[in-house]
Amino acid sequence: MSNHYNSTLIKKHPRLPARVMRITTPHGEVLTPSFMPVGTRAMLNYLTPSDVLDTNSHIILGGNTYHMLCTPGMEVIEKIGGMHRFMGWSKTMLTDSGGFQVFSLSEKGSVCIIDEEGAHFKHPITGKILHLNAESSIQTQKIIGADIIMAFDQCTPEAGGRETALAALDRTHRWLIRSKAEHDKNPQSAYGFKQALFGIIQGGSFRDLREQSAEFILQQDLDGIGIGGEVIGFDMQKTVEIIDWVRPLLPENKIRYTMGVGLQPQDLIDVVGRGIDIFDCVAPTRNARHGTLYYGEIVERDDWIAFESDTGVTKILIKKSQYAKDDQPIMPSCDCYTCKHFSRAYLHYLFKEGLIAYFHLSSIHNVHVMQKVCVKMRERITNVPSPPAKAGGEG
Ligand SMILES: [Zn+2]
Repeated sequence: MSNHYNSTLIKKHPRLPARVMRITTPHGEVLTPSFMPVGTRAMLNYLTPSDVLDTNSHIILGGNTYHMLCTPGMEVIEKIGGMHRFMGWSKTMLTDSGGFQVFSLSEKGSVCIIDEEGAHFKHPITGKILHLNAESSIQTQKIIGADIIMAFDQCTPEAGGRETALAALDRTHRWLIRSKAEHDKNPQSAYGFKQALFGIIQGGSFRDLREQSAEFILQQDLDGIGIGGEVIGFDMQKTVEIIDWVRPLLPENKIRYTMGVGLQPQDLIDVVGRGIDIFDCVAPTRNARHGTLYYGEIVERDDWIAFESDTGVTKILIKKSQYAKDDQPIMPSCDCYTCKHFSRAYLHYLFKEGLIAYFHLSSIHNVHVMQKVCVKMRERITNVPSPPAKAGGEG
């Protein structure tokens, strides 16, 4: 397998910013648009790596830096030879810098202080104070050994206003320079595999700050670009607006990653239609566990696609008594393992009884639907006809 990273434009939609990219990494190739299931604690809840592959996933977010630092700790991960081996995933992997988790901790009032040096937080079990900064985040991600790693950033809270957004942006830029310097010492994992470093555009919901951040990130000559902040993926109207602000500044050959997008299938369609390539979200598996299963049809709409349903709602709540005797699959057009073999009645029963098989089967379906939407987007970008060439100048 080649020991390098690159990203290549394969096909652009003739009328939309949507595109198909190929990402080449030491652990395989990925065609985008591609959804990344999230393995927060070095596992995808209730899914084995083989289940994940069966959902057509070729890249995952494996093991969050913050969680891996807390437990099992870097000594264990390094001894086993990195996260790919530890969790049994042989394909492409991205990990995060820990920036978002320490931000969440500080917002929730847990013991976590963020200052210019980095984040200082209490180990959830031992109570010992741990420190995470730009340098140690990069070193940790080298031990995790993911193919794509992220610069340490300060997430922008949505409620903070302009001054807070500006402060987070300036700090993120200073930390980016430190992250890159640490990465450039040896741009490989602890196991000798080439790693790509992505920077993160902050700036909250302020257009000039987002543009300023995008320009700064691009000057650093990184391998790819993340778009972060609390608002991304949470408020989809603002998310697409922010993408539209920064997209004209972004080069065509670099991967664009919206961090935390994917509450529902239509969210993927909305960001890809604006020129985004990859995204991660815990929602598909979390929704599945709580009984919310994606339901709908992928339909062609003008030059693009949409995820719609006959009921007007693109999900079903499997706990409802109306499914107790329903012999249909969750989503009749879905070809996942769950839909091919089991009825809504069976899933309703498993859910009501709290049986483990429910969590497994429902997670397979929800992740599969996200990837099915990505497959359809790749097809649409590749196959939608280009507009006829305008008649020449001969009158
Ligand atoms: Zn299904």
